[in-house]
Amino acid sequence: MTIKKGGTDNYLANHFIHRSNWLRAAVLGANDGIISTSSLAIGVAAASDIREPIVLATVAGLVAGALSMAAGEYVSVSSQTDVEEADIERERIELNEMPEIELLRLAEIYEKRGLKRETALTVAKELSETDALKAHVRDELGLNEISQAKPMQAAFASGSAFSVGGILPLLVVLFLPLKNIEFYLYGFAIFFLIILGGTAARTGGSNVSKAIFRITFWGTIAMGLTALAGYLFDVNIG
Ligand SMILES: [Zn+2]
Repeated sequence: MTIKKGGTDNYLANHFIHRSNWLRAAVLGANDGIISTSSLAIGVAAASDIREPIVLATVAGLVAGALSMAAGEYVSVSSQTDVEEADIERERIELNEMPEIELLRLAEIYEKRGLKRETALTVAKELSETDALKAHVRDELGLNEISQAKPMQAAFASGSAFSVGGILPLLVVLFLPLKNIEFYLYGFAIFFLIILGGTAARTGGSNVSKAIFRITFWGTIAMGLTALAGYLFDVNIG
């Protein structure tokens, strides 16, 4: 196998894993934005004959949803960062207190991955001489740059994705005719979910039709039940 100059450097670009962090947060956020904002609009539209309360509810739902999504993602990813940092600190202490045992532990990990005992020990020794903590964090704790949690990045990604998802039903509520607006909202929401689900599956290298079925099925359930609640509410106050 001939390696071109710098040929293997961008091997990461060919794999989907490094897209996983922001992709997962972005798609979850956008799905949530479309489904929860559309459902809210459909629910209010089912109980109201005028546009203003529907617009108001949609805007309120969009803002509240985006902020809670960002806050939730920030808190959950931050606690993951805390756990990772605590693990790294404990690893640092163990390396100081018992370097020989840690070296054998690292060699054992390489042996389990298929290296011969001597080779595993040699590799563990050389990597420990270079940067013992880095080798243990990567190979013992399984933490690396790709999977390392980035709270602000994740919060921003899911908050803005929710907003993008939520703006779509808002445009429908603002510009489409009020008569049967529930059906316009549902139709457009399903259309946007198909586009999003398909794109996400394709980008992530997974089954497109399965992803589309999953998101449209649960989207329909959410919007259907909210519409029912709206109709029941309307019947009771009508
Ligand atoms: Zn260790």
